[in-house]
Amino acid sequence: MIFETIIGLEIHIELNTRSKMFCACSTEFGAQPNANTCPVCLGMPGTYPVLNKEAVRLALRAARALNCRINKVSCFNRKNYFYPDLPKGYQITQFELPLCEDGFLEFESEAGNKKSGRAINHIEISRIHLEEDAGKLMHPEDQPVTLVDYNRAGVPLIEIVTRPKAIRPQAAVDFLKELKSVMEYTGVSDCRMEQGSLRCDVNISVRRKGEKELGTKVEIKNLNSFKEIHKAMEWEMQRQQELLLKGKKVMPETRRWDQIRGVTIPMRTKNGSQQYYITPEPDLPGLDLKSEIFRSYLEEPLPELRAQKNRRFMEQYNLSRYEAEILTQNKGLADYYETVVKHGAAPVDASNWILVELLRLWNPADNAEIPVSGKALAQLIKLVNEGTISRNAGKKVLDEMFETGKSPRLIIEEKGLAQISSRAEIEIIVDQVLKQNKDAVEEYKTGRTKVAGFLMGQIMKAGRGRLNPNVAREILEEKLK
Ligand SMILES: [Zn+2]
Repeated sequence: MIFETIIGLEIHIELNTRSKMFCACSTEFGAQPNANTCPVCLGMPGTYPVLNKEAVRLALRAARALNCRINKVSCFNRKNYFYPDLPKGYQITQFELPLCEDGFLEFESEAGNKKSGRAINHIEISRIHLEEDAGKLMHPEDQPVTLVDYNRAGVPLIEIVTRPKAIRPQAAVDFLKELKSVMEYTGVSDCRMEQGSLRCDVNISVRRKGEKELGTKVEIKNLNSFKEIHKAMEWEMQRQQELLLKGKKVMPETRRWDQIRGVTIPMRTKNGSQQYYITPEPDLPGLDLKSEIFRSYLEEPLPELRAQKNRRFMEQYNLSRYEAEILTQNKGLADYYETVVKHGAAPVDASNWILVELLRLWNPADNAEIPVSGKALAQLIKLVNEGTISRNAGKKVLDEMFETGKSPRLIIEEKGLAQISSRAEIEIIVDQVLKQNKDAVEEYKTGRTKVAGFLMGQIMKAGRGRLNPNVAREILEEKLK
């Protein structure tokens, strides 16, 4: 490879607040168009913005989790431009003095480390600032109109800007995945990408290896799925490399990823850097974190993040990296695992049941609550381990628990799934089977001991799968001797 790719990311993340950044309107997703609006977020004359403290609290959590230097005083600006989704004619953001600067995030990636396997990589964060979201334009297919929904106008965002780095697209995606997990673990955002609460602009350029100067960068706007981000970066990297190989120039421009055709298409060219008219925001004072209201936010404890939890799970519970990674991919699932262990399940059993059985029924990506409590799953595991029911029956019981929420004991009783472990009861069945299969017993005596397997099968069948197989095998062996 004679080229290297330089990638910088601008990530917009919607903060997990109940109300908007500068008014009391709800941030709920999926409401009727324009239901969550008021004179403030519609930009009516004579209205004032009032800062949402919770947005500041969450942004500070993000800043601390991403190892940033926090500016004790930051200020708000107006980024003035005209677009129909922006009712005020400007967006309130932070420009020259952002909330925080100079952070970094470590993440694991296999990209570029074929020999050594995974390696810890790290990407520097140049700044994080607070800003408000814009509304949304809709273009109905059946009418020649454009509709505008201002429900999203004024929803609190943070924008995280990374320093450009020579990395592969795969590593950039691994970084984004780690970033998403940090935001989820700290409660900063629900990061529902399909709802647009995590969106990413990619700045990408290529240069020949060894060159000092950066190549011309192209910006790809508004990507909101890891798969598409990856594809868009790979495609754009190829396009730029081919241009350079042909001796042509890469134009500085903003492009859009066409998901259906799988190509980036130009949106607009950039003449130098894009010129926005940025002014101070006169209606909001500077954000002074030394003041009483905000000081406590800086002292809030941060939760254990995924990478730490991952390491701890491997050490404390003796899990493989694979198991620990799946369990910690979602904070809810990781907490659930620990609840099951706390209620008496062996760590390995708990992991096994969750990975094999629970994840068959519950998809972490749905962000829904697990309908079976950790305590109930621990009870079920105990009942299987004690031999009250077989592992197979245990699966059926779990299915039923998922549907009805009933306790495992109740289901076992109702469905008559309990195993028969009583020697006396099993002996009767073994005797019957041996009587019905005299030929096989004779064969066994002549040395063809393999028929024991056949006999065992007949016994389990006669017991309708409810016999404790260990007890049944023991009795059969005794009788055959
Ligand atoms: Zn409002």
